[in-house]
Amino acid sequence: MQALAELKEQIRQALPDLDVVIGWQQGFDALHTRPLFIRSEEDIDKLVVNEFCVVNPASYLRELRGGKKVGLVLKGCDSRSVIELLQEDLLKEEDLTIFGFGCNGILNHTKLQARFGELGFIQSIENDGANVTVVVGDNKETVPFTELCADKCLTCVYPNTLQCSHFVGEESTKKPESEKNKALEEFEKLSLEERFAFWQDQMRRCIRCYACRNACPMCVCKDHCIANSREPKWLSEEVDVQNNFMFQLIHVMHLTGRCVECGECERACPMDIPIMLLRRKMAGVIRDVFAYNAGTNAEDTPPLMCFKVEEPTIEERH
Ligand code: SF4
Ligand code: SF4
Ligand code: SF4
Repeated sequence: MQALAELKEQIRQALPDLDVVIGWQQGFDALHTRPLFIRSEEDIDKLVVNEFCVVNPASYLRELRGGKKVGLVLKGCDSRSVIELLQEDLLKEEDLTIFGFGCNGILNHTKLQARFGELGFIQSIENDGANVTVVVGDNKETVPFTELCADKCLTCVYPNTLQCSHFVGEESTKKPESEKNKALEEFEKLSLEERFAFWQDQMRRCIRCYACRNACPMCVCKDHCIANSREPKWLSEEVDVQNNFMFQLIHVMHLTGRCVECGECERACPMDIPIMLLRRKMAGVIRDVFAYNAGTNAEDTPPLMCFKVEEPTIEERH
């Protein structure tokens, strides 16, 4: 990132008034980054911004709510989760300082692995924006960026950080390849029986590790999650198709109208279960029914928060 020095300087100036700034640092190799919690001037030098900055720093806001002054370095998609949390009154704008930039997309490790084998064997990787050049052993291959990037980047219409306090560098001019998600379109061509069979197979593979829930910036129930609740007990400890399905369906319903399609749930899944199909489907329904794109305008009230308890069409149960 060309404007990295400028970004570091902005963080340096803001740091005295903040408890922490969350960004990314180099991970155990060139293909990985990990979250960086900047609390001192020395930490600022560790900051990196590149196409491996996959984690959404906003996922850590759950633990930092309640008066802490937090700075966040956010990609466009990440910034939507903060806006949605502000809309839901789960954060206070005055507690946040957002450092934004123009994002050109991130790379997907599963796609890299499928194309080049075990990621440990990749010796070097270079990205010029349009193409990615990868060296594995004696082979050097150049692949279009769009073949290796995260699916969300193909359809991304918000590459620039929304509603930020500071913005560095030039705005991204990245245009979406398509407005439609190809995987969802293909899936919807299947019959109802085929779709049900597909999800049964996927749910058979789910190990209910809850990585999808833990990575989600919008999962804010914490100890009250239906997955942990003992009274009432919604789910058995059994990891079987029925219980896994139950968890996933409740999970997606809790995120309907709130999911910002950041893709963190699917990225975090160790079993490569395509749970974004469910999220994208519901986000599409919300767009069709309410003309609402979660996390894009802090002034909006999310549609599922607008109903009245005394709504005449809602039957009183007690
Ligand atoms: S979805 Fe958009 S903002 Fe998010 S990583 Fe991809 S290009 Fe960047
Ligand atoms: S991360 Fe994957 S395996 Fe783990 S609970 Fe979620 S869907 Fe299941
Ligand atoms: S459900 Fe997945 S895509 Fe939606 S906000 Fe949570 S992590 Fe992001």
